[in-house]
Amino acid sequence: MKKTTGMDRAATRKWRPATQAVRGGTWRSEHGETSEAMFLTSGYTYDDAQTVADRFAGDADGMTYSRLQNPTAAMLEERIALLEGAEACRAQASGMAAMTAALLCQLSAGDHCVAARAAFGSCRWLVDSLLPRFGIETSVIDSADNDQWEAAIQPNTKVFFFETPANPTLDVVDLQHVCDLAKAHGIITVVDNAFASPALQRPMEFGADVVAYSATKLMDGQGRVLAGAICASEEWITETLMPFQRNTGPTISPFNAWVVHKGLETLSLRAHHQSRSAVALGEFLEPRVLKAGGHMRHPGLPSHHRHNLALAQMEATGPIFAFDVGTRQRAFAILDAMELIDISNNIGDSKSLMCHPASTTHANMGEDARSEMGVTEGLLRINVGLEDIADLTEDLDRALAAAGI
Ligand SMILES: *Cc1c(COP(=O)(O)O)cnc(C)c1O
Repeated sequence: MKKTTGMDRAATRKWRPATQAVRGGTWRSEHGETSEAMFLTSGYTYDDAQTVADRFAGDADGMTYSRLQNPTAAMLEERIALLEGAEACRAQASGMAAMTAALLCQLSAGDHCVAARAAFGSCRWLVDSLLPRFGIETSVIDSADNDQWEAAIQPNTKVFFFETPANPTLDVVDLQHVCDLAKAHGIITVVDNAFASPALQRPMEFGADVVAYSATKLMDGQGRVLAGAICASEEWITETLMPFQRNTGPTISPFNAWVVHKGLETLSLRAHHQSRSAVALGEFLEPRVLKAGGHMRHPGLPSHHRHNLALAQMEATGPIFAFDVGTRQRAFAILDAMELIDISNNIGDSKSLMCHPASTTHANMGEDARSEMGVTEGLLRINVGLEDIADLTEDLDRALAAAGI
């Protein structure tokens, strides 16, 4: 099969991100289709017995089984790697499949993992509940405090694991500081970059080793499929991830891979537009929320304690922010009064969505862990979509008034 436009791959690597988003990882069949084809196949056939023997032996290129390789998944992997500036990428069935694989493929009993306290609920479950079951020690720290990273290092520390900005408290991690510290101690950094996407933040530019994604969020961007991805060096993907991936099978379906692949073509446009709208909506909300005794958690606003750092390490601050209105009752009143913005716990969507993390995405963790990470009873998280900002403002204006704010 002829790849891309027939140019050699080294030449396509030089394209800039906006070009990669629509051209990277395009493999054309003999039909010359403009839109990438979808290969819904679980297996492959071979012209002769030696061909398949060579492929299984690793002596010849070519696909053998869709748990291991699929052309549609491979196109997605190539496009994400090019956008990320990574040597290699493996797509995953979901964001949690990606996080689980990125940690379990490299950690063993006796190792130690330092993780951010502010994190997506299931990511915290991996750290608090799953890893310890296999004899892997974990420490949870305030990721926005640079000193806590160093203080948590032990002789057996193998991995740093964090999100930035974090779900749902929007804590921002100092990528350069934490990646430098990890490098100095031979520690592998695993960054969950779901909130930013490669359009807004590329952690590898700061020295991150592994960047993992929920591609369900901004990459798909239209709330259609679950997907994930892991980016790293070719060597790490081949030697550390692949033995785990091949044999445990957190593989993406070709259909989902195709949907995300097409989603990437508009990723940058969406991410930047939604970021601008999120800042505008944040600016509108802030005085009302402050007056009612609440507070904002928005890296795009000067009131965020790491606003300058966020601007320095991100191209834009993303579509998601949170704000605290004091009580669950008020938070629910706002949710129930909205007419345009949907109540939904998804994010990264082109539709504006709002949820109450304490009773949804972070309901499973104990109340202590919740309050420690700042997931308060009055906290609301919003994903700002592509609707007209005036309509979004009017909807929130009315919803706040209905809640007495
Ligand atoms: C949604 C999310 C995940 C999990 O991704 P799924 O695709 O839902 O499995 C992991 N990390 C972060 C930061 C997320 O927002």
